[in-house]
Amino acid sequence: MEKEVIICLDIGGTNCRIGLVDREYEIYAQQILATAGLAEGGFMNGLLQLIEEYRETYQEDFQINAVSLGFPSTIDRTRRKLLSTPNIEGMDNLEVADILEERLALPVYLERDVNLLLLYDLFSFRLEEESTVIGVYFGTGIGNGIYMNGKLLYGRNGVAGELGHIPQLHADTVCGCGNTGCIEPIGGGRCLEELCTGTFAGTRIRDIYKKYRDTPELKTQVEAMSIPVATEINILDPDYVILGGGLLQMEGFPLKSLEENIYKHTRKPYPAENLRFLYSNVNQENGIIGAGIYGWKKWKEVEKYEMSYV
Ligand SMILES: [Zn+2]
Repeated sequence: MEKEVIICLDIGGTNCRIGLVDREYEIYAQQILATAGLAEGGFMNGLLQLIEEYRETYQEDFQINAVSLGFPSTIDRTRRKLLSTPNIEGMDNLEVADILEERLALPVYLERDVNLLLLYDLFSFRLEEESTVIGVYFGTGIGNGIYMNGKLLYGRNGVAGELGHIPQLHADTVCGCGNTGCIEPIGGGRCLEELCTGTFAGTRIRDIYKKYRDTPELKTQVEAMSIPVATEINILDPDYVILGGGLLQMEGFPLKSLEENIYKHTRKPYPAENLRFLYSNVNQENGIIGAGIYGWKKWKEVEKYEMSYV
């Protein structure tokens, strides 16, 4: 019998990755494409065509059970519909799961990209049995996943963990979400982009910490990164705090200063005295494997249900 796999996609604002993931979370036939190329002629059409062609290529050698996709989007509670996707045009209020299932005749699973990163980290650090784990991923924005009692936290509308939008009193910066005063424009990667065109004009973003980490501007930005993390720690008192994302990988990033700031803003003596940080290993494949972990979890739920009726 052919190997059972799930087609997994990690869709980002810049690149999309596609691969096959088996029950042991091994990846096969990984490909990377530019998201912009996929969007020509409508993103949904491009996505369908990509998956159909990919399936055609591999269906003789593999048994393809389902499709699992991670999006940089907010997704409704039932995980069937994209609510909003700030970085990809035409991907708001879209019933992606229904559309794909109808065309592909395969089960389709959707999840937020940061939740898939968290699932990958829970798996790689063997934390799935812990009661509360939070993941905070710093990129252009601030991504957050919350894992409690064996489940990802979704909330009433499916959008729990919008940690970048913690409000700051008297802050007047307008956030990408439309609100004024969110922490994300002060602590996220977009702030670095602005510094590189303004105060530190001519600097490449990747050099900014290496060159300027001791300036008041960067000290403020790193402290601003600590605020949402400390806030969530104060609320949830988690077993582990996973920190990750592109900013932490940049040369000269002041990791120690980030940890000290998180400590400074968490309640004493606890949880402050007992914090456990883990650092996500950034690897291009993590999102695809995360989609595989999620897809197989969903698949096995159905399998278990069907078995009970045999
Ligand atoms: Zn906001």
